[in-house]
Amino acid sequence: MPELPEVEGVVRDLRPIVEGKTIEYVTLSETVYMSHEAGKQAIVKNAAPPHFEQMLQNMTIARLERRSKYIFFHVTKDGESFILVNHLGMTGAWFVVNDILEIIEEKFRKHIHAIFTLTSGELLVYSDIRRFGELRFINEIADHAPLLKMAPEPFDEQACDFFLAQSEKPRFAKKAIKEVIMDGQVISGCGNIYATESLFKMSIHPAKPTSEVSRERKIELFQVICDVLQESIDSGGSTISDYRSINGGAGTMQHRLKMYGKKQCKTCETTTESMVIAGRTSTFCPQCQK
Ligand SMILES: [Zn+2]
Repeated sequence: MPELPEVEGVVRDLRPIVEGKTIEYVTLSETVYMSHEAGKQAIVKNAAPPHFEQMLQNMTIARLERRSKYIFFHVTKDGESFILVNHLGMTGAWFVVNDILEIIEEKFRKHIHAIFTLTSGELLVYSDIRRFGELRFINEIADHAPLLKMAPEPFDEQACDFFLAQSEKPRFAKKAIKEVIMDGQVISGCGNIYATESLFKMSIHPAKPTSEVSRERKIELFQVICDVLQESIDSGGSTISDYRSINGGAGTMQHRLKMYGKKQCKTCETTTESMVIAGRTSTFCPQCQK
């Protein structure tokens, strides 16, 4: 699943190519149409497929922004502004090509769900193998409640204080520290990979109740999370399973990971253990992490 650094990578790749360009028309896949007919709303949320296609016609992509793990396409038409919100889900990927055949990997080519034909002649393509991703057209952030509840960006000045205050709330205090740091209402954009790595760096057991982590340690932990996220952004993200950058390239952060997906601790060589926390596999070293 793409996490904050990977989403940041996608935005950085797309920004210089699509900002300022105009969407001539949008074509959604038959799969999207059929799922809506079956009442399931695959990929396209809160709008019927023909309506979605029609709304985005002739819109100009003014600006791209990442918020947590969402991509905001700020679009304009006739002086009015709207937002196309995208979440990549498990396997969402964007491509900008002149021809669909330029998407080399067949699995991405086979699961194209939206093509934005730009007036420049280029195709902005959204592919999603497992279809957990989302495209949502809204007037403003307030139109989609989960966006309002997001914690500040981790690199924002107030983000650490926000984390401390949230983590002390009774509903979070008793929960496992890993579950709390992965909660988007506590910290924005810290998913399984980076939570695993940060807790290992801090020698904190992922199941440790949050209330048992001191304020000082929490402040250190927050800084480590920011450092790990930044390191990953700088190395182009982690390329795990189906994630690809827009040109099909791969990041290199996966080579720097020290605990996520590892069988042996890099520090003490003990065999790692794993447990499920908040539905996600959590790998840890039983010797180093207490
Ligand atoms: Zn160890």
